[in-house]
Amino acid sequence: MRTAISSLTLLEPRSLREALVMLRDEGPLTPLAGCTDVYVNFNFGTLPQKRFLNLWPLEPLRKIGMRGGVLSIGALATYALLIASTLVRRRLPILAAASREIGGAQIQNRGTIGGNVANASPAGDTLPVLAAAEAVLVLRSASAVRRVPFRSFYPAYRSTVMRPDELLVSIEIPPVAGRQWFRKVGTRAAQAISKVVMAAVRAPEPRIALGSVAPTVLRAVRTERALASGASIEEARRILMEEIQPIDDLRSTAAYRRQVCGNLLERFWKETA
Ligand SMILES: Cc1cc2nc3c(=O)[nH]c(=O)nc-3n(C[C@H](O)[C@H](O)[C@H](O)COP(=O)(O)OP(=O)(O)OC[C@H]3O[C@@H](n4cnc5c(N)ncnc54)[C@H](O)[C@@H]3O)c2cc1C
Repeated sequence: MRTAISSLTLLEPRSLREALVMLRDEGPLTPLAGCTDVYVNFNFGTLPQKRFLNLWPLEPLRKIGMRGGVLSIGALATYALLIASTLVRRRLPILAAASREIGGAQIQNRGTIGGNVANASPAGDTLPVLAAAEAVLVLRSASAVRRVPFRSFYPAYRSTVMRPDELLVSIEIPPVAGRQWFRKVGTRAAQAISKVVMAAVRAPEPRIALGSVAPTVLRAVRTERALASGASIEEARRILMEEIQPIDDLRSTAAYRRQVCGNLLERFWKETA
């Protein structure tokens, strides 16, 4: 069986510190969180890596709590935990909404927010939420911690600025003022990868983020600026069409995605008025 892990190496750290030392001294290692993305690649036989680092038992990385005024979400928090968290529901309800629409119960119990972010798919459903929330990603190595603004994390399609000796340990969400809005459009209501996903905040300076319409998650900054300065929604829609770069792929067409993006923008504006 192609997925037999016995022919592979799996390191089992007992603490974050041990995990970071293993990454430094015994790398390169591929971190495993819930394995819901990694296992798909095992199955397809498209995973070249042979040496893995199991993060799943590292309980402290699942913590969701407040640090000063900032909501801190451990990278290993599963969708089930995010949905159940009163802090998340109160401070960032669009993250709970996105989590509810990811996979089914099995994926929600295993899939982690850190895995969604580190996997760097432009279709990851939590990514537009984190972009609209102006999240900060906390990356740790054995010797240092650095905080990377979410907008600087993805330099190109399916790549991140994370180094091989670093782990994503938590995600910080500063207070978000304004009404939050989230919508995922897929082939069906559950177990579907997004054709288009949008998260937005209605504030004097609105924030609009989209997934599956560009090589990386997109903040529609020109559209945001137009709306902030009083442009009509029709004008904002026209600008949004210039900002997005959707493609035809097996899930949808560029033309359909364009139409849906424009419709979602209008719905966001109307429903949060
Ligand atoms: C049936 C099915 C349905 C799905 N539905 C959806 C959906 O609706 N929406 C959606 O967005 N996704 C969906 N997914 C994809 C997947 O479940 C999510 O992306 C999930 O959040 C991945 O998390 P994980 O913990 O399983 O990551 P893993 O598979 O363990 O890891 C994914 C990648 O991230 C890296 N990584 C993980 N954690 C860390 C860390 N802390 N630090 C550094 N690197 C790390 C790994 O090395 C790997 O490269 C689906 C997958 C399946 C199989």
